[in-house]
Amino acid sequence: MEVHRKLVVGNWKMNGNLNQLGEIAAIAAAAKEAAGVDVAICPPFTLIAAAVARSGGLPIGGQDVHSAESGAHTGNVSAPMLQEVHARLVIVGHSERRAEQHETDAEVRAKAETALRHGLQTIVCVGESEMDRAARDHVAVVTAQLEGSLPDQAHDGELVVAYEPIWAIGTGNVATPEDIAEMHAAIRAALVERLGEFGERIRILYGGSVKADNAAAIFAVPHVDGALVGGASLTADQFVPIIEAAA
Ligand code: PGA
Repeated sequence: MEVHRKLVVGNWKMNGNLNQLGEIAAIAAAAKEAAGVDVAICPPFTLIAAAVARSGGLPIGGQDVHSAESGAHTGNVSAPMLQEVHARLVIVGHSERRAEQHETDAEVRAKAETALRHGLQTIVCVGESEMDRAARDHVAVVTAQLEGSLPDQAHDGELVVAYEPIWAIGTGNVATPEDIAEMHAAIRAALVERLGEFGERIRILYGGSVKADNAAAIFAVPHVDGALVGGASLTADQFVPIIEAAA
């Protein structure tokens, strides 16, 4: 099993404002001290440029991107636009977008292709619902999502996968280490089957109610190469201990 440098990404979702950028500065300062772990924050689009200015080199990213480079797509943001404001990563296929914007696997894959072609580190999210898990279909559902959402190559960017069980997001119901181990091993096997040696190199993050008090146990699970953190990434107080647990 290849051991990867851990990656801890904060997803601010539709939270935060200009007054809260001090949190990013504080997180960046702590991330510099945490040698051996990669850290990034994805604030809302409106805060990216200001966050980059305050981040002291901490990578800042978007929470979505359109698959087209430009054009008549009201309300959307393109990969070149993200690059222009020095965003270095992007999240695609988050379950909230799959649910609220009805994004399909094919759309997620097209977005990831475009983002990777533009050299963005691209986090492709997958995850099952509570019903899928109750029906014991969770592994099949997630591997099918992966199959449909993953590009075949990373171009100039870095492809990252985030496993986020929908029932664990924002609920405080974190998956058990056993649940996480089962799914991350299945994702790793699917990546290797599909992509060969390149599949070994892809980092697999866990997301869903990651907090300071459960982070160390999650990071100890085989094939967990980091975390995608929502609620607990909004303040340095809560996010820095998670970064330290990964270091
Ligand atoms: P949460 O969100 O940490 O608030 O559960 C995780 C995510 O949706 O990325």
